[in-house]
Amino acid sequence: MEEFRLDPVDLTFDLLSNEKAGCRECMPLKNSIKSIEFKGGYIKIYEVKDRVQPSKYQLEGTFFKHSNAHGYEELIVENEKHSSNFLSYSADDIEKLLIIISERLNELKNYDLGKNISVSRYVNGHDYWDLVVLPVPMHNTEKCHVCESLNYTGNREVYKTEKLIAYTPFSPKKNELLRITTIKHTPAEEIDNVLAFDIANFLIKITKKIKKDITFCIKQSGAEHFEIEVMSGNIDPIDILGINRINYSPEETAKKISEKLADGK
Ligand SMILES: [Zn+2]
Ligand SMILES: [Zn+2]
Repeated sequence: MEEFRLDPVDLTFDLLSNEKAGCRECMPLKNSIKSIEFKGGYIKIYEVKDRVQPSKYQLEGTFFKHSNAHGYEELIVENEKHSSNFLSYSADDIEKLLIIISERLNELKNYDLGKNISVSRYVNGHDYWDLVVLPVPMHNTEKCHVCESLNYTGNREVYKTEKLIAYTPFSPKKNELLRITTIKHTPAEEIDNVLAFDIANFLIKITKKIKKDITFCIKQSGAEHFEIEVMSGNIDPIDILGINRINYSPEETAKKISEKLADGK
């Protein structure tokens, strides 16, 4: 049973989870919910059922808040084996993938699952995108934090086109190398072919120039302006949303330690 808990002091979230982060697709997948044509074959979409729980907007309780609201997770799978296909994709292929993701997000909007979206892909692993939508954490800022950040990129800017900008963030997240976003306020579910093509070309440029293991993540929160984070290594999508995955139960640990302390030996 997975559970979200909120730290009342620093307002960060933990996910108590039995599951370790890792390649989701190496766990058995069955019954895809949708097939989409791609490169002479099909992309298959799988709902990750163990995470799908009724979403709640508020965590329960008064001081210690916890909830089993897990939002939604699905895998968008191009290839059922480990490969480095992403590195050989053309800009057209990546454009098509981005449009598929954008359309998925548009469809999921109908279900009120939450506003925290991460669609991540480790380029050297399985050929799939891990799409997570969560109702937590809640980000209520008056102005769009993405648009605001763009006023201060200064000497952290590394790339710019008419539509896109890439920069190193002022206070990067762990493993974060680069952040890419649109100069104009744009939600991920409104990425069109023209924009997708621009993004695709830049992602190809990055995979060629940054020769290390990287994860791309399309991320969006309450402000509804997407960003693409480029991170080194294979990153857990829960981690990307700023939530710590904890693989033990505080209550069970307390019980074990108490038993040891009570043991007279
Ligand atoms: Zn795998
Ligand atoms: Zn914005």
